This record gives sequence, C-alpha cells and structure tokens, in this order.
Amino acid sequence: MTSEMNLDHSADVLIVGGGLVGATQAIALGQAGLSVLVVDRLIARGQLDEGFDGRASAIAQAPKRMLERLGVWQHLTEATPILDIRVADGDSLLFLHYDHQEIGDQPLGYMVENRHMRQALFARLAELTSVRYLAPAEINDITRDENNVRVRLKDGVQLRAALIIGADGRSSQVREHAKIPLTRWSYDQTGIVCTIAHEKPHNNVAHEHFYPSGPFAILPISGNRSSIVWTERDKNVPGLMALDDAAFTKELAARFGDFMGDLKLNGPRWSYPLDLQFARNYSDKRLAVVGDAAHGMHPIAGQGLNVGLRDVAALAEVLIDAHRLGLDIGASHVLRGYDQWRRFDTTVMLALTDGLNRLFSNDLAPVRLARDVGLAAVNKSGPLKKVFMRHAMGAAGRLPKLLKGEAV
Ligand SMILES: Cc1cc2nc3c(=O)[nH]c(=O)nc-3n(C[C@H](O)[C@H](O)[C@H](O)COP(=O)(O)OP(=O)(O)OC[C@H]3O[C@@H](n4cnc5c(N)ncnc54)[C@H](O)[C@@H]3O)c2cc1C
Repeated sequence: MTSEMNLDHSADVLIVGGGLVGATQAIALGQAGLSVLVVDRLIARGQLDEGFDGRASAIAQAPKRMLERLGVWQHLTEATPILDIRVADGDSLLFLHYDHQEIGDQPLGYMVENRHMRQALFARLAELTSVRYLAPAEINDITRDENNVRVRLKDGVQLRAALIIGADGRSSQVREHAKIPLTRWSYDQTGIVCTIAHEKPHNNVAHEHFYPSGPFAILPISGNRSSIVWTERDKNVPGLMALDDAAFTKELAARFGDFMGDLKLNGPRWSYPLDLQFARNYSDKRLAVVGDAAHGMHPIAGQGLNVGLRDVAALAEVLIDAHRLGLDIGASHVLRGYDQWRRFDTTVMLALTDGLNRLFSNDLAPVRLARDVGLAAVNKSGPLKKVFMRHAMGAAGRLPKLLKGEAV
C-alpha cells in the first residue's frame, strides 16, 4: 500500500504548534480561504488548563488591530489598556516616562493574560471550518519533495500539505528537521512570573525597574492586580522558587516597593530560563518558521509575541497573494519574500533587547551613570521619545496589511 493510500488528512498548509503564534497564523490563512491543519503535541482545543503558562503579554497597537481584523480580539474577555510606562534604574530617581497622550489618544498597548488569549484564539478557530486542529499529536517524521510535504504522526496518521510552517517554539522540531542553523546564547537569567494583587489601583501604569540581576516589570492587568516578570540570575532562582508564599512575597515586595500598598500573591509562580536565539533562515524547501521557532528574545521590552505576530502577518500576506494568483504557495521564491521581509525587523529587535539587557543588568558605576544620563536625555527629547514609543507600539517599519487593520 502506498503512503498516498494511507493519507488521512491533506490541506494547503500544515502548521506545527498551536500556541499563540501558530493559532493566529492558522486563523489568518483559514479566514482567507486556505485549508489549514494544525498539530500541537500538548494543547487540545477546549482542554485548557487554567494554570497553564501564567504569563501575560503586552500587545502593541498594530498586533491588536490585526487580532481585531482576524475576529480574535472580539472573543477576548479581558484586555487592560496601558496608558503610561515608567522606567527607573533600580531605586534611582531618574526615570523615563512614556505617557500615551504624547503621541495621541490611544493606549500604548494592552495587557492580555496568555490563558485569555488562548481561549479567544480557540473560540475563533471553532468558527472556521477551513482549519482542522489535531491535538495532542506528536510528529514522527517529516519528508519534503518537489511537490509536497508529508508528515507521519506517532499514532500512524499521515498528513500532506504544500507547505509546513514551524510555529513550535524555541526547540522547534520543524527547524531542526530542516537543519536551519541556530545562533543561541544564554543570559544566565531566569524570568520568574507571577500575579500580584495589591491594595491600591495601578491606574493602568506599567513599571519597569532595572536591577543588576535584571529588569523587574510590573504590568497592569484586570482589577487591582499586576503581572510580574522578575528577572533574576539563574543561581538565585531555585532558592526563590522554593520559598513559601509569605517569604516569596516579602522578597518580591523589596523590589516592588510600597507604592501600591499591601501585596498578595495571586496564583502560582512560574520560571522561564532566558536566552537569545535566532535561526539563520526563516524558510527552506516548502517550509517556513514563525514566532519563537524563528527568534527568541529577552522579555525586557515585552516584544517576543509582538514580533511573532508580525511574522504571522507578513507570511499570511505573502501566501495569500500567491494563492490568489494561482501560484504554488510552497515555492521557494514565495517563501523568500517572507524571509527577506522579516529578517531586518527581527534583527533590530533582537539587537535592541540584547543591548538593553546588557546595558541595564549590571552595577558598574560608569555604566550606571551613563545610562541614567541617557534615560534622562531620552525623557527630555520629544522626537527621540516618540520614535521609541512608535516602535514599542508596533507602528514602525514596513507594515503588512493585517497590522494596519486591513484585509488581505
Ligand atoms: C517571562 C516572559 C515574559 C514575556 N512577556 C511578553 C510580553 O509581554 N509581550 C510579548 O510580546 N512577548 C512576551 N514574551 C514572549 C512570548 O511569550 C513568546 O514570544 C510567545 O509565547 C511565543 O509564542 P509561540 O507560539 O511562537 O511559541 P510557544 O508559545 O512556545 O508555542 C509553541 C507551541 O508549539 C507546540 N509544540 C512545540 N513543539 C511541538 C512539536 N514538536 N510538535 C507539535 N507541537 C509542538 C507547543 O505545545 C506550543 O503550543 C515573554 C516571554 C517570557 C519568557
């Protein structure tokens, strides 16, 4: 019996990884009429564990417009506007203050808990008959030839598509299968993530304090609650994670300060080892990678998911244009268009987040003085500040249509 006869599912596109990036990619392509198969080894539709992940993401304006256009934002039960961002160097008085009113009347971005984002994505996926979601499903092998990609799952199910997209995160099996070289270095830092309930309201202000061990971010979410991303040196993390809730909250309060009154841990804690990694290519024969599978960056500027969503928008535009013209969506020249479009933007963001972390995560006196003077100078320079704000809001660079809120 040939593998053709054993084929269980075929589609235009096969996406490996149904996380925030992969699910958005499936919706963008499915909404435009392409048939899509998604396989995820863990997350099954409708089987979301409330405790899964724990992170909240700052979503910039441009990705928010895209999520609206894709019918995802409408399903979100909660999204907290960020009106101001205050950046301080440790306990130094010098700070950078971004006020949304300096560049218009729109919020700088929105805080969305990842579990809520996932629920909204699944709600939208359920409305699209063009997308099939297979999970939990593990890939056994991938083969690519001139015309097709074939995938065999561990349970024997066979899949075929014109193109495979790796949206399978930092340890991407799809990227490894294609032997795409990866550059990677560890930061010797871990992001401790938790939610804190506080006595006083946050007034929609996000705070970032830079300590020698790394940035400490206080990000406003619904109610009197904030999502914390506390970056620590790796060696200190096991001890902190082993503390009981009261002792952990005390350590946290020492960095948080007392400006929001009493603090209480609201739910479990998570820890994410931090590294920088980037794939040398974002495409290969009948294959593309998006999101963390293509690039993983330090969360210092809250940009990882935003950059992944920009990949989604660019790849969707390139593929949908090719599909409408009757071209082969897996052809190398089509995929090269995506690769070239995204490379510059992601390289800038990787360099920026890496540079910021190096600049701030140390306690050398001359560096400290220089960066404090720099922060104060940026704060005073209107035009420079606006450039930074526009970049953080996702409005810089050549924007794909979806990020402008336009249809593809
Ligand atoms: C502490 C921290 C805070 C952050 N804060 C922000 C923020 O505020 N704003 C922001 O923009 N970004 C933020 N980020 C970055 C953001 O979380 C990531 O960039 C984003 O989650 C990447 O999504 P992804 O879908 O590409 O990958 P992942 O979230 O890793 O999803 C990959 C999916 O693929 C599946 N999968 C993996 N391997 C396979 C396989 N072999 N077969 C099938 N399925 C597979 C997994 O089950 C998963 O569902 C933060 C990151 C950290 C660590």
